Amino acid sequence: MPDLRASAERLFPDLVDLRRLLHRFPEQGNHLPETRRIVLEALEGLPLDIVAHETTSGIVAVLEGDHPGPVTLLRADMDALPVTEATGLGFASRHDGFMHACGHDLHTAMLVGAARLLSSMRSDLAGTVLFMFQPGEEGFAGARFMLEEGLLSTVTDRPSSAFAIHVNTWTPTGMVLHRGGPQLASADEARVTIRGKGGHASAPYLAYDPIPVAAEIVLATQTAITRRINVFDPGVITFAHVVAGTTHNVIPETASMVATIRAVSEDSREQLHALITRVVPSIAAAHGMEAEVELNLGYPVTVNDPDHTAWVDTVARDTLGNDRVVWMNSPIMAAEDWGYVLREVPGTMSFLGACPPELEPGRAPGLHSDRAVFDEEAMIIGTALHGAIAMASGKRRA
Ligand SMILES: [Zn+2]
Ligand SMILES: [Zn+2]
Repeated sequence: MPDLRASAERLFPDLVDLRRLLHRFPEQGNHLPETRRIVLEALEGLPLDIVAHETTSGIVAVLEGDHPGPVTLLRADMDALPVTEATGLGFASRHDGFMHACGHDLHTAMLVGAARLLSSMRSDLAGTVLFMFQPGEEGFAGARFMLEEGLLSTVTDRPSSAFAIHVNTWTPTGMVLHRGGPQLASADEARVTIRGKGGHASAPYLAYDPIPVAAEIVLATQTAITRRINVFDPGVITFAHVVAGTTHNVIPETASMVATIRAVSEDSREQLHALITRVVPSIAAAHGMEAEVELNLGYPVTVNDPDHTAWVDTVARDTLGNDRVVWMNSPIMAAEDWGYVLREVPGTMSFLGACPPELEPGRAPGLHSDRAVFDEEAMIIGTALHGAIAMASGKRRA
C-alpha cells in the first residue's frame, strides 16, 4: 500500500484551513446550512456522487473504486455545541454561544481529507466508499435520521463495514484506542416528579414534604444499583438536576429531578429502567406520597464488532506503527449516536488522541469544555487511518 501517512501529510495545510473555517462557524443540531455548504465546496472536483439528505443537513458522498469490492462506510459528525468559546484562538467561533468543543470540526476535515486521498488512489481501490457527513450527533440523533432516510441503501449493496473516529484530549496526539464490544454507553433520561402537599415549614407533619423523599430516592437508587446490577456489566444513574421549593419557610407541593442513565449492555440498560421505575414510586409510597418517572430513551450502546475491531487494529498498526495503537480495557460512559449505525452494520469507532503537545493529556480541558483545544496534527493520522481502512476493506475476507 502506498504511504498513506505521507499522502495525508501533503493534504494537511488544506485540512487545517478547512478545519479552522468550520471552527469559525459552528452550528448546532440537524440543520447546519453553512457547514453543509462548506463541506460540499470542499468536496467539489472530486469524482464523487453526492447525495444531499432532505430531512437533515446530512451528506453522503460515494466513491466507486476501479475494482469490484465491498461497500465501506466512513463517518464524520459535523455539529457543534451550545458553548461560548473561551480558548482565545485566532480562529475562535464567530457564532456567539456556539463552539466546536467536541472536535467534530476535526472529524469533518479528516473525512474530507480521506475523500481526497482515496479519490487520488481510485485506480487501486477495490469497492465503494460511502463518506457519511452527519449532523446532530450532540443529542439530536442525526445518524438515526440519516439511517431512516436510506443511508444504508445509498448504493445497491449495503455497507459491509463501518468506521468512525472520535478525537480526545486525554491521550497524546496520534494515539489510536479502541476495544471489541461496547466502546461507549447508552444514554437515557429519567424525569422524576414527586407529589407531596405544601404547607408551613414549621409544621411538616401537617404537610407531605417531597424534599426528603427526593433525597432518599437519590440515595436509594445508588444503593439499589450496587445490589441489583451485575458489577461486571455496570450502570450509572446520576441525578444531575434537582428542583424543589422557593424559600426557607414553605414546604413545596412537588419536587422534580432529572437523571441520566448509562449502561454498556442492553441487558443492564433494561434492568436500570426497571430499577428506577420501581424504586421511585415505592420510596414515595413509603412516605404516603406519589411519584412518577418519565423515561426518555436516548442513544443505544455503541458496540464495536469484535472481529471488525481486531481487523481495524491490524490495519492501524500496519499504517501507523505498533506503538501508536492501544487496546482499551474498558468502555467509557459517554454516548454516541454512532451506536445506531453499529446496530445495523458491523464496525468500529476508534478514539484518536489530539492533545496539544504543550498540554498534559488527561489534564488538558476535555471534550465539551469552553477551553477545549486540539492538536491539528492528529488530522494527519485520522485521514491516513480512514484511507487505510477503505483501501484494506477491498482486500479483507469477510
Ligand atoms: Zn460531544
Ligand atoms: Zn463528539
